[in-house]
Amino acid sequence: MPTIFSQIAAGEIPARVVYEDETTMAFLDATPLAPGHTLVIPKDEYPRLNDVPADVASELYATIHQLVPAVEAAVDADASTVAFNNGEAAGQEVPHVHCHILPRFEGDGGSNVHGIAGDLPDLSEDELDSIAEDIESRA
Ligand code: AMP
Repeated sequence: MPTIFSQIAAGEIPARVVYEDETTMAFLDATPLAPGHTLVIPKDEYPRLNDVPADVASELYATIHQLVPAVEAAVDADASTVAFNNGEAAGQEVPHVHCHILPRFEGDGGSNVHGIAGDLPDLSEDELDSIAEDIESRA
């Protein structure tokens, strides 16, 4: 069963499309958290960021790069939060990679990315070193 975003990409269900090219598209979020809340997707369905091939990822980033200033200007935003919920445990509901461009306004009462974490971990210097080494060895 194709995701709802695949159905939008195929033109099977309506959306307020604001940008489209061969590989990517962008449309307004149906339940906006702010005016101008926009989603950017690869048209092909990939559940998570690490499933996206490098060439598609480059095109996806190019579209995000193009859309962020357009969205901010359209709603006269002061800033934007640009984020992916990457996996179910991170709150991803639609298993089709999508980037949220969320316009932000001075005093809008929202939070920054630090506000989305749960309990802060208490990590020793050794644990931090070990985690850094592990990531570096896999990168
Ligand atoms: P996420 O939690 O990152 O998976 O976010 C999914 C987003 O998709 C939510 O912000 C929804 O409001 C949005 N959404 C779900 N269905 C549609 C739709 N048909 N058109 C536009 N946005 C949608």
